[in-house]
Amino acid sequence: MKVTEHIERAKGDTLFSFEIIPPKKGKSIQELYNNIDPLMEFNPPFIDVTTSREEYIYIEKEGLLERKITRMRPGTVGICAAIKHKYDVDTIPHVLCGGFTREETEYLLVDCHYLGIENVMALRGDAMKHQRYFEKTEGGHAYASDLVKQIRDLSCGQYLHETVEAGSKADFCIGVAGYPEKHLEAPSLAFDLQKLKLKVDQGADYIVTQMFFDNSKFFEFVEKAREAGIGVPIIPGIKPIAVKKHLQLLPQVFKIDLPENLVQAVDDCKDNKAVRQVGVEWCIEQSRELKEAGVPVLHYYSMGKSDNIKAIAKALF
Ligand code: FAD
Repeated sequence: MKVTEHIERAKGDTLFSFEIIPPKKGKSIQELYNNIDPLMEFNPPFIDVTTSREEYIYIEKEGLLERKITRMRPGTVGICAAIKHKYDVDTIPHVLCGGFTREETEYLLVDCHYLGIENVMALRGDAMKHQRYFEKTEGGHAYASDLVKQIRDLSCGQYLHETVEAGSKADFCIGVAGYPEKHLEAPSLAFDLQKLKLKVDQGADYIVTQMFFDNSKFFEFVEKAREAGIGVPIIPGIKPIAVKKHLQLLPQVFKIDLPENLVQAVDDCKDNKAVRQVGVEWCIEQSRELKEAGVPVLHYYSMGKSDNIKAIAKALF
């Protein structure tokens, strides 16, 4: 079922969902199942599976470093199919502009259709590690809005090089990313909201936000999005802080603010076990307020071990 249908059916109740990251190449999918199993009692209607773009690795060969290009966490669509089959839950592959040509994207979407996957999350992706700015892959898209258009066109039977009178249309429900504290490259929040509106105008059906730790940023964002004419559901994406390093890492990587009392509480922790507990408690409070405000879904970023997400879900669902 589509995410928008799940939201409609919930009739105002807040749903629980989460995002997982594919295992590194060579690891077993069982590790993923071990982290999903404890969360299934909270009946997530859908689970997102991220996609990582390609990266350079350096291999030493006869004293010289040889550069190779590889994907460390391949298999998003396969993992979606495996989880869907095992748990009978909707799964959402993240589809990226970066690292994919339009043809490769089309083939991936066709695979999704065959597998009964009805939702996709359309994202630009980040620059490769060695790049200062995102560079469009040759034959690929520059912005997520262009990718949304390709997905929407395909849903209307318009493939890249032919129009097909589709007996069985791949009618995807499309999610896109939104940034309560603006995307790190955007010159202003107003500019970023214009581009978010463009994604919706091209056919996006719902928005999932970047993580935030101060709910007032989310509420202001929703208000401004509505003023900008964005009417689709906006799902807050949240993440419990889990290690002390997050105090530096999260503002550095995502350009988001951490509230002072959260920073102090984490900084006062003796070890990461205590940090994890602070992260859970903060996230429960955040989630409670968002739920009371009537958000359609609480969507959690689960990085590997899911014990903290389980503790949060137990307090709320
Ligand atoms: P876009 O919407 O294309 O925006 C990128 C930037 O360009 C913004 O600053 C925007 O303001 C600007 N912009 C957009 N359109 C235009 C235009 N026409 N002209 C000028 N400027 C424009 N990354 C991954 O690699 N894999 C994942 O699985 C993944 N999942 C994510 C899930 C969520 C919920 C979120 C919030 C992010 C996720 N990301 C993921 C990260 C995402 O790829 C990065 O944040 C990326 O830098 C931007 O992606 P986007 O889809 O928001 O890009």
